[in-house]
Amino acid sequence: MRRTRFAPSPTGLLHLGHARSALTVQHVGHDVGAEVLLRIEDTDSTRSRPEFERALVDDLRWLGFGWSGTPRRQSDHRGGILAAVDPLAARGLIYPCSCTRRQIAEAGGTPGTDGLVYPGTCRGRRLSDRQSGDALRLDLARALDGLSPPAFEETGPLHPGRHEVDPGALIAGMGDPVLVRKGTGDPAYHLAVVHDDALQQITHVVRGADLWTATPLHVAMQTLLGLPTPIYHHHDLVRDAHGRRLAKIDGSRAIRRYREDGLSPPEVAALAGVARPPTPKQDRTPVWQAGPS
Ligand code: GLU
Repeated sequence: MRRTRFAPSPTGLLHLGHARSALTVQHVGHDVGAEVLLRIEDTDSTRSRPEFERALVDDLRWLGFGWSGTPRRQSDHRGGILAAVDPLAARGLIYPCSCTRRQIAEAGGTPGTDGLVYPGTCRGRRLSDRQSGDALRLDLARALDGLSPPAFEETGPLHPGRHEVDPGALIAGMGDPVLVRKGTGDPAYHLAVVHDDALQQITHVVRGADLWTATPLHVAMQTLLGLPTPIYHHHDLVRDAHGRRLAKIDGSRAIRRYREDGLSPPEVAALAGVARPPTPKQDRTPVWQAGPS
């Protein structure tokens, strides 16, 4: 049984980049004969909104993206996702952290692949000393120590082939990742995605190239938790005329906006750079183009 998924976060309206992702999920899923699922990644309770979930379901239906079963909404499974930390905690790999972004910057946190690389200020703290509102971090160097280097297969156009996780590079680029968020106690993306991909038996993860650098961490966490590693496929991103990736905050590229302007789903797919639908009309030249990341 092969299975893939599209896993948007309902933190804004879907834009052309999401259209590209969803349609690529559908095409790869079709090519490998996989069932396609929709997962609502709404663990960030401060940014997720039910109205954005309704809007994304509606936009995806309009676009022609189909999925099997009822979408899994991560916030309905918060406890189960948080419990994925327990086996890591039992091995002494998790510590509480009270540092703010500012404190991390002041303590010498340098930009990495996932925000500032944590300088390790709280690393010596014990889990039993966790204060309310503390984040939980994974002690990545300890976690990777003695682990035979995990590997994964990538089938996307940007980095095709087999990749071995380089522990030194992963630690240097990521630092100790947050698995449970500060303040809200919400599961962090890295924890939720690894947990749910395994739980939903996802065999093919298709997503944007912005998540390429997170993949070694996900693969390492799968190995630590004894979970299977799926095949990955990262597609290149839709960029604006200045080469910047699209953000939800910039509603001008929202799928909704094109719908209101009277474009058809194949026309939006073409604007998103997904090649298979019919050629767009000549008078609808895209101003934002797909490009390598
Ligand atoms: N929820 C993530 C996003 O909207 C995607 C996660 C994934 O596909 O792994 O960027």
